[in-house]
Amino acid sequence: MTDSADNNFDLVILGGGSGGYACALRAVQLDLKVAVIEKDKLGGTCLHTGCIPTKALLHAAEVADAARDSAAVGVKTTFDGIDMKGVNGFKETVVSRLYRGLQGMIKGAGITVYEGEGKLVGTDTVEVGGQRVTGKNVVLATGSYARTLPGLEIGGRVITSEQALELYEVPQSVVIIGGSVIGVEFASVWKSFGADVTIVEALPTLVPLEDPTLSKQLERAFRKRKIAFKTASRFTGVEHHDDRVTVSLESGDTLDADLVLVAVGRGPRSEGFGFEDQGVTVDRGWVPTNERLATNVPGIYAVGDLVPGLQLAHRGFAHGIFVAEEIAGLKPMPVIDSGIPRVTYCDPEIASVGLTEPQAREKYGEVDTYEYNLGGNGRSQILQTAGLVKLVREKDGPIVGVHMVGARFGEQVGEASLIVNWEAFPEDVAQFVHAHPTQNEALGEASLALAGKPLHAHA
Ligand SMILES: Cc1cc2nc3c(=O)[nH]c(=O)nc-3n(C[C@H](O)[C@H](O)[C@H](O)COP(=O)(O)OP(=O)(O)OC[C@H]3O[C@@H](n4cnc5c(N)ncnc54)[C@H](O)[C@@H]3O)c2cc1C
Repeated sequence: MTDSADNNFDLVILGGGSGGYACALRAVQLDLKVAVIEKDKLGGTCLHTGCIPTKALLHAAEVADAARDSAAVGVKTTFDGIDMKGVNGFKETVVSRLYRGLQGMIKGAGITVYEGEGKLVGTDTVEVGGQRVTGKNVVLATGSYARTLPGLEIGGRVITSEQALELYEVPQSVVIIGGSVIGVEFASVWKSFGADVTIVEALPTLVPLEDPTLSKQLERAFRKRKIAFKTASRFTGVEHHDDRVTVSLESGDTLDADLVLVAVGRGPRSEGFGFEDQGVTVDRGWVPTNERLATNVPGIYAVGDLVPGLQLAHRGFAHGIFVAEEIAGLKPMPVIDSGIPRVTYCDPEIASVGLTEPQAREKYGEVDTYEYNLGGNGRSQILQTAGLVKLVREKDGPIVGVHMVGARFGEQVGEASLIVNWEAFPEDVAQFVHAHPTQNEALGEASLALAGKPLHAHA
């Protein structure tokens, strides 16, 4: 624990992940006295077992593919395989550098950190390691855990993303249960590393929460990459053998693999922390809040994955900042899920913000859409990626959804987010000059086309 004159604070934050530490950093900027209680490592899921390590693996996967495919651009290399020790070392170097940076920031900001599992024992009090820490306000930021399905016990060859990040060799074959973000990211990594991959998804498409056009494009790209997938397919059981696991599906099919990755979503981490004992409403583990992130108990807020909605690190950061400013009386603008950008970092990447076409049709009735094919984008052709940018606009109104797929398209989500959140019209975006040759131009071209003056676009 970092020293503090006493255990009374303006703000006590339970959990030092994306939501918790962002709240702490903003609160000290606003002259609040802050304590963070963390039972594992500051930085939470995102830094240690989520965003950062997975993206390090995906980068290694991209390098592997570049080495394999280099002859296509006239560069001679030999690809000798994947050294998981080296990959893990790279990943750990990135994580530990960021971890040291974060620890330094928290310490430098004068935030008191209590190490240990905290429990809410009063509406303003958290107990940790036999000490009572009180706050005028309490923020619940305990995050989430990897879920599984009935009949699918985690252990042995059946793993979650957490164990998947610790493998010391590349599996020959993997079945991934769940074709949403985490499932398709690991599918992409393992395929690039040389494994045979099959995804099993209960819903009719991969990445089922995205616009249907993106799902279709991703499925096409995965077919090309020989990543197998079975959609509208339900898991029924798993059988463990010494050298493999057999997964059974509702269709009667069975799949043998070295490993099964369970990627069926994340549940709220709230059990046993005293929330309900102190009167906080808990709904199937989630802590519901109003749009100002207040729980039903005055003075207690909740942020991040614990609050129903998108489970993304930058949503956690935004929640944390919001709550700090709210407590300091700054009356910040609420964080609305529909305006939060989403990126899935498989190859090809998926990036989106705002409403899908079906959601927009439901909300506005009539909408216009335009799909700009990356076949017309110079930089994408150089990078040899296929994909598209799809804009959805309210009829004669602003752009309400941007949906993109293609290598490296995650980096384009910033402009997409400004377009949707500033309620820009295609005519507004079309006026801005986009640099050539960039993938970013595809956003400009799609806007030009939707504004009725297409440039590098086929009719
Ligand atoms: C494999 C994977 C990949 C991901 N990739 C991305 C991505 O690319 N981009 C993205 O935006 N999001 C990604 N996410 C999601 C992202 O990690 C989460 O949305 C984010 O970490 C949520 O932040 P949080 O603060 O709510 O919770 P967490 O980060 O889970 O932090 C909660 C913290 O609270 C601590 N804690 C819990 N209970 C207690 C207690 N009682 N006492 C003390 N401490 C406690 C935990 O130890 C933890 O450190 C990914 C997640 C996974 C699993």
